[in-house]
Amino acid sequence: MSKILIVEDEEKIARFVELELKHEGYEVTKANDGRQGLTLAESGDFDLLLLDIMLPGINGIEILRRVRKNSDVPIIMLTARDAVMDKVSGLDMGADDYITKPFAIEELLARIRVTLRKRSSADNQEHEVIHCKGITLDSERFKVTYNGIPIELTAKEFALLQTLMRNKNIVMSRNTLLENIWGYNYIGETNTVDVYVRYLRQKIDEKFGIKVITTVRGVGYVIKDE
Ligand code: CA
Repeated sequence: MSKILIVEDEEKIARFVELELKHEGYEVTKANDGRQGLTLAESGDFDLLLLDIMLPGINGIEILRRVRKNSDVPIIMLTARDAVMDKVSGLDMGADDYITKPFAIEELLARIRVTLRKRSSADNQEHEVIHCKGITLDSERFKVTYNGIPIELTAKEFALLQTLMRNKNIVMSRNTLLENIWGYNYIGETNTVDVYVRYLRQKIDEKFGIKVITTVRGVGYVIKDE
C-alpha cells in the first residue's frame, strides 16, 4: 500500500483528498502548514507527496527544493489557477507533475497512479552508477561526486549530466537533450540547454579545474572519455 503525504492548508481540500485517497486504498498523512510538511516530507517515509504551493510557514516550492536535495520521492504540486510561474519553477526544481486547483478528484487520482507507476518501473531497473572523468553519478541515490567530493546539483542539472554520462563519447544535439530532459514542450528552446551546461560547468569544471562537457559547435554537447 502506497503512503501519501498531503501538505495543504485548506482544510476542506485536504480532508476531501484524504477521504478519496483512503477510499482508493492509500495510506494518508496530512500536514496543514509548511514546517510540519517539510519535517514529515524529510522523514523519507512516503511514496508520494502532494504539495500545495501557498502554505503558511514554508511555501511548497521551498519544501520541494529542500526535499529534492536528498530524495527523489515522487512529488505532485497543487497550484492555484494561472500561477504559471509556480508550475514552471516547480517542474524545473524536480516536481514530477502538477495539478491546478480546483481539480476533479478523478484527475488527481489518475496522475497519482501514473506517477507511482512510472517510479516503480524506474525502481525496477538495476542500480545504476556511472563513472567518467573522476565523476561518479549514482542515479538511485541522486548523488554526484568528483573524486569523492559531493557536488550539489538541481534535478535538471542532474538529469542533464546523467544523460551525457550515459551517452559518453556520443554527441548529443540540443534538441535531443531537450526532448529527453525537459519534454517535447521545450523543443526549439535550445538556449535552455546552454544555460544548464553553463550551470554544470560552474559547479564542476570551474570548481575543480577540469573539463567535463565539450561543446561541439553547431551540433551540441558530448562528454569524451577515452
Ligand atoms: Ca494553500
